[in-house]
Amino acid sequence: MADAVSQRMQRVMASIGRFETWAMDPDRNEGMVRADSCDFVFGNPHEMASPDYVGALVDAITPTGPQHFAYTMNHPPAREVIAAGLRKRFGLPFDPEDIFLTSGNFAGLSVTLRLLIDSGDEVLFISPPWFFYEAMIVGSGATAVRVDATPPTFDLPVAEVEAALTPRTRAIIVNSPHNPTGRIYPAESLSALGDVLSRASRKQGRTIYLLSDEAYNRVVFGGRHVPTPLAHYAESFLLYTYGKTLLAPGSRLGYIAVSPAMEGRESLRATMLAAQMMEGWAFPTAPLQYAVPRLDTMSIDMGALERRRDLLVSTLLSEGYELIIPEGTFYVTVRSPIADDMRFSELLIDEGIYVLPGAMFELAGWFRLSLTASDEMVQRSLPGFARAMKRATE
Ligand code: PMP
Repeated sequence: MADAVSQRMQRVMASIGRFETWAMDPDRNEGMVRADSCDFVFGNPHEMASPDYVGALVDAITPTGPQHFAYTMNHPPAREVIAAGLRKRFGLPFDPEDIFLTSGNFAGLSVTLRLLIDSGDEVLFISPPWFFYEAMIVGSGATAVRVDATPPTFDLPVAEVEAALTPRTRAIIVNSPHNPTGRIYPAESLSALGDVLSRASRKQGRTIYLLSDEAYNRVVFGGRHVPTPLAHYAESFLLYTYGKTLLAPGSRLGYIAVSPAMEGRESLRATMLAAQMMEGWAFPTAPLQYAVPRLDTMSIDMGALERRRDLLVSTLLSEGYELIIPEGTFYVTVRSPIADDMRFSELLIDEGIYVLPGAMFELAGWFRLSLTASDEMVQRSLPGFARAMKRATE
C-alpha cells in the first residue's frame, strides 16, 4: 500500500473491496454500457431527463445578479419549502432553521456522522445494507456494527438491535423504504425501535441518535404512506436525496432535517453548519439550491415504475424465480437459483443481462435488479432470464 494511504482509509477500502471488483472493473464496465445489454445494475437513468426537470435547472443556473454564484449555504427559500413540505407530509412541526442542504445522502450521512462521532463510538447498521454504510461509518472513525435482518421478510430486527447495543453505541442507521429489499418498515416496528433506543440512552446516560436514510421515501408503490422514524423517536435526523425521486443521482441534491422534537436542536445549528463546511463544503451548488422550490414537488413517473415492477415481478415468478415484491425503492431482490450468485450473474451476462450480485451487498445467494432499466430493456431481458434459469437448474 502506498505511503499516502492512512490506516483509516485502508480500513475503508477493506470494506468496499468486494464492491469495487464488480462495479468498477473496467472490462465489465465497458460491457455494461454496450448498447444491446440490459442494465439492471444501479439506480441510474436510461432515458432522457424530463423537460420540466431540465428547465428548472436551466432557469436556476441563469444569473439573476452578481451574487448568483456566491458561496451559498442552506439557502433560506429552499429551507422554507422543504420544511413546509415535510410538515404537510408527516404532520410534524419541522423548522426551516433545522433543514441543512447537502449534496445528497452520501453527504447527509457523512455530515451527520462528523457531528456525532468520537473515537471509540459504535454505529449500528442493518444488513443487507446500502453498500457504503460500513465504509462511511469506518471513515468517520467509528466502529461499524452489523445487525442482520432475516429473509425472506427482512423485517426491522428490533430485538437483535437491542442485543447489539453497548455503552459505546452512538447511532443507528435505519433505511426505509429499504435498499435492497424494498421493505417499508411499519409504524409499529419503528415505535418498538424508538422504545429500545430511549431505554438504552437513559440507561447509559448518553443519547443514541437515529439516522433515518429516507432516500426512497417518495419512491413507493400503490400510493403507500411511508412512516418516518422521526414520529417515534425524537433524537433522529431525516436524510433525504432528490437523486431517486428525480432519477438524477449525478445532480447531487439533498438535505438533513433535524427532528423538531430533538432536545437542544437550536444549539446544534452552528455546529451542523460547521460540519457541512468541514466535510468539504458538502452543500449542493448554489444553482441547485435555488432550484429546490421547483424540484421539491417533481417526480419521475411512478406509475411507469410500478408497471415495470409488476411486469418484471410477475414474469420472473412465472419463470420459477423466488423474489421479494418491493413496496418501494427502485429494486427487486431475487433469489439466485443456484447458491453461487456470482456464478449465476455470469450466466445472466451470457444473456446480455447485468445485475448486482448479492455478494456485493452482504446477501449471498441473491441478486438485485434496478427498475430504472428502460421498458425496452425489461421486455428484451425476459426470455434471457428464463434461459439462464433453465441453464442453472438443468
Ligand atoms: N442511501 C441509500 C439507501 C441509497 O440507495 C443511496 C443511493 N443509491 C444513497 C444513500 C446515496 O444517495 P445519493 O447518491 O443521492 O447521495
